[in-house]
Amino acid sequence: MPDRNDMFSIMKTAFLGLGAIGRPMAACIAAASHPLSVWNRTAERAATFAKETGARHASSPADAVRDANVVITCFPESHHVQALLDGPDGLLAGMKKGSTLVDCTSGDPATSRAIAAALAPREIGFLDAPVSGGVSGAEKGTLTVMVGGDAAVLERVRTVIESFSQKIVHCGGIGAGDTVKAVNQAFLAIHLLAAAEGLATLVKEGVSPTLALEVINSSSGRSNSSMNLIPERVLTRAFPRTFRLALLEKDIGIAAGLARDNRVPAPVTMLTADLFRVARGELGEVADHVEIVKMVEQWAGVEIK
Ligand code: NDP
Repeated sequence: MPDRNDMFSIMKTAFLGLGAIGRPMAACIAAASHPLSVWNRTAERAATFAKETGARHASSPADAVRDANVVITCFPESHHVQALLDGPDGLLAGMKKGSTLVDCTSGDPATSRAIAAALAPREIGFLDAPVSGGVSGAEKGTLTVMVGGDAAVLERVRTVIESFSQKIVHCGGIGAGDTVKAVNQAFLAIHLLAAAEGLATLVKEGVSPTLALEVINSSSGRSNSSMNLIPERVLTRAFPRTFRLALLEKDIGIAAGLARDNRVPAPVTMLTADLFRVARGELGEVADHVEIVKMVEQWAGVEIK
């Protein structure tokens, strides 16, 4: 017999969007024994996931969310979530009063506020809850989750979020999670490009990038790009595809838009957003974000290795 606390911490959950990061997040929820139903646009992915984890494969978004206390969405952009709200197969047709939509999409705050406003009259809660930590963090259940919305709503669903995270930060009202995520992603994009430009220069000067990184990574110029991404993915020429460049281009576009809306002069963010837009055009929709280094290498006529 589960004890009283265990009984209260089990939540009927629906997960929609079994992409690169959504899939391992959903697997953590299934492993934490929350009864889980899943829906994915490409149905085979949900069918395979259901077979592997014992989750219920739902036939539509409305079917996935019926009876759920917590509904988690993880799509490329906020408008994908918004587009699933209406219609006979939509989320609003299935979600019950008192339930909560937790959107783990790295979204935009304005659309998150519009989604929350559509749910509120039905007494359905909403949190924007983007994640960081990458696919490997999702596989280990160690993501960081940045949450926007009502603190009491977060407490209602915390146990489900905890199944895939080791840190949950309540950042403020609806949209605050999206805003923190967008700015974090702008840092990532800027650091990655800066590291690529600097290392291309060092290679052309005849300095080993491995030796240069040994110095930089114990000096003030270090970043996640110099400490992890470049050593593990560029110097090895592995360039694994874990987080699409198209998604980072979307993220820094959100950050650039927020800077503009708030009249914050942000030329570095704007320029980096433009460079990622160029890279997305050149490298396409499936390229990984670290592959922007290849664009810098091509311009410089050198490989960082
Ligand atoms: P993917 O591109 O791997 O997966 C996207 C998911 O959304 C898939 O399930 C896909 O379905 C579905 N989808 C795409 N378009 C539509 C649509 N029009 N209607 C319905 N479903 C759709 O993305 P990720 O999993 O990498 O990213 C998801 C979110 O998480 C993004 O906002 C991203 O920025 C963020 N994120 C990603 C990280 C990563 O390391 N990958 C890290 C941190 C945040 P289908 O299977 O049919 O293609």
